[in-house]
Amino acid sequence: MSEITELSLKQIAEGVRGGNFSAIEVLQAFLKNIAEKEDDLNAFITVNSKGALTQAKEIKKGQQGRLLGVPVALKDNISTRGLRTTAGSKIIEDYIPPYNATVVAKLLAEGAIILGKTNMDEFAMGSSTENSAYGVTHNPHDLTRVPGGSSGGSAAAVAARLAPTALGTDTGGSIKQPAAFCGVVGLRPTYGAVSRYGVIALTSSLDQVGPLAKTVEDARTIFEVIAGKDPYDATGVEMASEEPKKLESLRIGIPKEYLGEGLDPAIAEMVKKVGEFLEKQGAAIQEVSLPHTHYGLAVYYIITPSEVSSNLARFDGIRYGVRVEDSSIEELVSRSRGKGFGSEPKRRIILGTFALSSGYADQYYLRAAKVRTLIAQDFARAFEKVDLLLTPTAPTTAFKIGEKKDPLSMYLSDIFTIPANLAGLPGLSVPVGTIKNLPVGVQLLGPKFSENMLFDVGEAIERKKWS
Ligand code: GLN
Repeated sequence: MSEITELSLKQIAEGVRGGNFSAIEVLQAFLKNIAEKEDDLNAFITVNSKGALTQAKEIKKGQQGRLLGVPVALKDNISTRGLRTTAGSKIIEDYIPPYNATVVAKLLAEGAIILGKTNMDEFAMGSSTENSAYGVTHNPHDLTRVPGGSSGGSAAAVAARLAPTALGTDTGGSIKQPAAFCGVVGLRPTYGAVSRYGVIALTSSLDQVGPLAKTVEDARTIFEVIAGKDPYDATGVEMASEEPKKLESLRIGIPKEYLGEGLDPAIAEMVKKVGEFLEKQGAAIQEVSLPHTHYGLAVYYIITPSEVSSNLARFDGIRYGVRVEDSSIEELVSRSRGKGFGSEPKRRIILGTFALSSGYADQYYLRAAKVRTLIAQDFARAFEKVDLLLTPTAPTTAFKIGEKKDPLSMYLSDIFTIPANLAGLPGLSVPVGTIKNLPVGVQLLGPKFSENMLFDVGEAIERKKWS
């Protein structure tokens, strides 16, 4: 039998159920990897060794559960009852949620074990995990480089086999981009497919929870467990089950706007190779155009700060979190926020407050909302011609820690993930080998609720061994 840490999620659950090994043995295999590698990686903010062991002891062979005895790491903006949840920020460093996020309750109902909480950019703002108040996470493929972000801890944990799978959140690219940087699979589900109840909000009109996994099959398993309408999330939609399509009958578009400026030519080459491979499998490849792609980043950086300025208003030092006592209530709030937030949340709160202020809201927020519709229409038109799109996930491979000093150059990491997110579409990042020993990912985008098609094509890509 291969090592426990290399098994698929289904194999782990079956092994535990059948008594080939116990949930405790599974847990210990991953805790051992954590003990060996975590000092170098800093993938976790909290390792739940004790709690996980208590859970594992209760799991008996023969029990039901699609994830029986499977340890799962969770990004630290996902609420876990009784287990500290910081969102990568100092402002809630002592926060212990009194309830579980719906996704956590769903994992537990299938027998999963909560292994720990992973590192992330503060409130999920960033693309490198350097914006965490708990130190940077290192890329397991090269410790001098970032793992991507904001779900960098989750991606690094899976890539280094500290966890068999992890949940992340993706607002502008925070699952897909770190998946690409760390050489793992990442799914950002359709907006509304997975409940966000109990997930600390960044941009409510964009946020989604999804899996990071070793394989497409594992990502599918987790997605099936966490998806579904939830009475606690008003944006939830029940998935319509689609007819499976054969690869031979698929029409795949490569948007020309995604192969130009800013893209590492070696990655462009990889995308073309993947296209040729899919063509050999019988798919029809054609070039398509998404003419408003260019506006994606500008639109995102009006909409996200605007929603951030509202969503983060609750962290005021009054009810919970960092509190700096002062004589007046105004001073208390302002000093608490001044002390508790790092510079990226502050930057966005200021930008968003401006973009929404009277006299400017029409010029900024409203305009951005209109251009967002144009971007969504680009995709709708493309999906009249093709079934799915193939693009690079990120413009570069993992960059060096400390390399991107100005915020704009960091924002550019998400040029290929943001537009589809603005349109509410699902996206899957699949590893396709390496360039100079650093992983590369391609992004598959489909219409809303086309996750099964993305998984099928992702599995075909995965079956070929890319060098
Ligand atoms: N990097 C983008 C940002 O900083 C996306 C983050 C995310 O998807 N959570 O907002």
